[in-house]
Amino acid sequence: MTEIKLHNSRSRTKEVFTPLDPENVRMYVCGPTVYDRAHLGNARPVVVFDVLYRLLRHVYGAERVTYARNFTDVDDKINARAAESGRAIGEITAETTQWFLDDMAALGALEPDHMPRATAYIPQMIAMIEGLIEGDHAYAAEGHVLFRVRSYKAYGGLSGRSVDDMIAGARVEVAPFKEDPMDFVLWKPSDATQPGWDSPWGYGRPGWHIECSAMSYEILGPSFDIHGGGNDLMFPHHENEIAQSCCAHPEGQFAQVWMHNEMLQVEGKKMSKSLGNFFTVRDLLDQGIPGEVIRFVFLSTHYRKPMDWTERKAQEAEKTLRKWDQLFVATGSVMKNLPDAEVDPQVIAAISDDLNTAGAIARLHEIYAAARSDDQQVAVLKASMEFLGLGVQANRSASANFQSAMTVALIPELQTIETLLREMRRKAMASKDFSEVDRIKSALLEAGVEVRMSKEGVELVPGPNFDPSQLEGLS
Ligand code: AMP
Ligand code: ZN
Repeated sequence: MTEIKLHNSRSRTKEVFTPLDPENVRMYVCGPTVYDRAHLGNARPVVVFDVLYRLLRHVYGAERVTYARNFTDVDDKINARAAESGRAIGEITAETTQWFLDDMAALGALEPDHMPRATAYIPQMIAMIEGLIEGDHAYAAEGHVLFRVRSYKAYGGLSGRSVDDMIAGARVEVAPFKEDPMDFVLWKPSDATQPGWDSPWGYGRPGWHIECSAMSYEILGPSFDIHGGGNDLMFPHHENEIAQSCCAHPEGQFAQVWMHNEMLQVEGKKMSKSLGNFFTVRDLLDQGIPGEVIRFVFLSTHYRKPMDWTERKAQEAEKTLRKWDQLFVATGSVMKNLPDAEVDPQVIAAISDDLNTAGAIARLHEIYAAARSDDQQVAVLKASMEFLGLGVQANRSASANFQSAMTVALIPELQTIETLLREMRRKAMASKDFSEVDRIKSALLEAGVEVRMSKEGVELVPGPNFDPSQLEGLS
């Protein structure tokens, strides 16, 4: 079996990955707070852990991997958005959840097996908080419940800092009802304008951290394999998750391996809503940058390194992907099936080495070079790209229209002819002389391209017998 090595944030070393149960490899990743479009930085953990998910499925079998990623749909940022827009909270969270799923699908990310919403797990959170109070790890005060950080000796172990250091470095909220400034909120009171649930401590809502502890316990159990997220979550969020889970369920060890992606940056600063230096995934897609190109740019930088998004990188990525796709077109593999092929072993080896995606891409370049004179290597390139979540044109059979649109986009001559024909037709409508339009139309038919003309314009749709060599002389 392929040996996987992963950098564990907790031990600060790269370790050989041994699942607790190879029949059920379990991973939890902290997901988005749903009140707005995902910015490009939010997509980084999605793509990083999608690569890991694909690797685990490849090595252990798709049905032996369970991946859970939550949606935080109760949060003060959501309440604020509802108040300023006058819209209902449920409407905002449902809409943004769907946006997130659509945008991440455009980046080639598989949907996790479980996508729990925090508001669907309130009773489980309440039960966990009750257990923490019983065990003296938490206390109720003035409608709040707080976690007693000093009751968990290992607190700070993930980030390797002592509680005193953390107090000095963090902007902790000092409140009169707290025994200690480090104690964090498990439950807080809601007024009539805020979302709330009845609880033993009055009408209120959960603090942020408890949801991941309660949901990962419900879905994955008290011990599971991998926990991931951006490194901005390591403290306090992940320290707090560990403290809550280990105190509520001492029978388990919570997560074995902690993985954190570095931040996506703009001009050397973390891309974030609060800094206002962000653009959304949808902004890029709307500019015509394919999701696959965005994914390729992400994969070019190792997940533990900060990465800058630049237009130049996107252009380079697009050029490479088009070059590769043209190989599929040239070898006819858009329309016919390629020989069966396995993912290249060196690509698997690179990804198994702490997700060395840049190494895997370097290997794809080598395969491409060999594939220019070898059909089998074309198939290996296709299989390896698919493994990395790069949708290869040859595989886009789901939508024939999409496929032909892509083919038009990929074959520059076809694009030029389409533009030319549109112009010719416009002129012909005025002069009533359609002879030149008809000539091009029959030549295209001869080349296996269907010509669709409508009020909206001209669309060229290459069919199964499309032969690019017959386009010569038309443009
Ligand atoms: P949030 O909605 O801010 O809680 O973030 C959702 C996920 O995106 C978390 O895993 C964050 O760590 C991650 N994230 C936020 N900003 C960035 C960024 N600039 N680069 C990479 N990941 C980020
Ligand atoms: Zn979390």
